[in-house]
Amino acid sequence: MTVGNMGSVQLFDAGKKGRGLRATKELTAGEVVFAEPSFSAVVFDSLATQVCHSCFRRQANLHRCAQCKFAHYCDRTCQTACWDEHKQECGAIKMMGKVPGEKVRLAARVLWRIHKDTGIVSDSQLISVDQLEDHVTDLPEEDLKHLKTDVYTFLEYWTYGRKQHSVDDISHIFGIIKCNGFTLSDQRGRQAVGLGLFPNLCLVNHDCRPNCVAILNHGNQSAVSSALHSQRRVELRAVGTVSEGEELTVSYVDLLNLSADRQKKLKEQFHFQCSCEQCSQRVKDDLMMAAAESEGNKPSADQLKEGTAFSKEYLEKIERSRMEKDYCQVVRLCRECLEKQDNILADTHLLKLRVLSVASEVLSYLQSFSEAADYARRMVEGYIKLYHPNNAQLGMAIMRAGVTLWHAGQTEAAHGLICKAYGILMVTHGPNHHITRDLESMRMQTEMELKMFKQKED
Ligand SMILES: [Zn+2]
Ligand SMILES: [Zn+2]
Ligand SMILES: [Zn+2]
Repeated sequence: MTVGNMGSVQLFDAGKKGRGLRATKELTAGEVVFAEPSFSAVVFDSLATQVCHSCFRRQANLHRCAQCKFAHYCDRTCQTACWDEHKQECGAIKMMGKVPGEKVRLAARVLWRIHKDTGIVSDSQLISVDQLEDHVTDLPEEDLKHLKTDVYTFLEYWTYGRKQHSVDDISHIFGIIKCNGFTLSDQRGRQAVGLGLFPNLCLVNHDCRPNCVAILNHGNQSAVSSALHSQRRVELRAVGTVSEGEELTVSYVDLLNLSADRQKKLKEQFHFQCSCEQCSQRVKDDLMMAAAESEGNKPSADQLKEGTAFSKEYLEKIERSRMEKDYCQVVRLCRECLEKQDNILADTHLLKLRVLSVASEVLSYLQSFSEAADYARRMVEGYIKLYHPNNAQLGMAIMRAGVTLWHAGQTEAAHGLICKAYGILMVTHGPNHHITRDLESMRMQTEMELKMFKQKED
């Protein structure tokens, strides 16, 4: 099946993984395999007044829908663009007198769309939404209880929708959302802001060393007329060369985890046993648990065990203080922990990297840039050894570190990191993405500053 912009992919039977997509021609790094608008999407409950319900940008001074007083938009243009998606929701919220949670809102948006357009909305959609996997029968008791509660809230909300559905039908939709829902981030990729369903993307299987990445592109909303807005869509982009016939894969989980932890998470959340090469050969697990080694001195197995134990305790305390917004305490705990970790855990040890990451982030927030820069640099050095070269998270982390170093006045090193991040994001996000454009202007600014310094010196 090669239709629409799905010309480079083909649906195939991926054995015990079920359905999958494979390349019908050779793809190169940075190539857009396909772009797909969301079938349906909603903004998270907690951000409903801070993120536009149409373009999903985080923006100050949003205007709210005068009818339901729930939906918020950048302006009238965004509101008009979204009305088709919102109108039934708007009526249902008014009728119910309260707003149901994000999953219920998404399920309803999916069903309204199915009623209006059926489960297939374009020629290039390879699968109907209702044919996606739901894994309801694999759910543990506890999850089934939550699902049931959601279904009953849904039925109350849905009274506005004319066609009635059985409990099984609704459970099917919730199951689909649970294992296929895609988290949408804001335009700068800083924060998860919503949940959406992209049917073609759902067909791409997981691998712990994926050859593609799925990136949300918010499109260009600067035009005054909504008809000229480019669509909110997800792009599947190749992160390396993919040969003809090779299966396309993305990662469903954070790759900075030991293989056993990734497998556990994939089993719990997506109901399959990952037997990819990285997992079966435990690739890089040794680095992620490595002991520090200096001048031939290596800590004993007991010391390493103790180091792991206290690091976990510290991380819990750090997380608690962070929740309480006691940032000075967070910094104190991080410093203490890093000092204790120093001759025990290697700089690629996951528990050390987590502390370095929090320390640099919180210190930047407190504007103690030079100490933050020191931790950011160490963190990035560790990440580079663990992540595959064209990884989006790696690119974003290097970008943040570059900004921190820049604030700390280390312009030359900052420029180096910004260029490195730019190289990665050109592949993972592409030249037209908001974040890549931000990076490009930072690259030019740091370059200009460096030139000015050199001129002064001459
Ligand atoms: Zn908007
Ligand atoms: Zn409304
Ligand atoms: Zn794996």
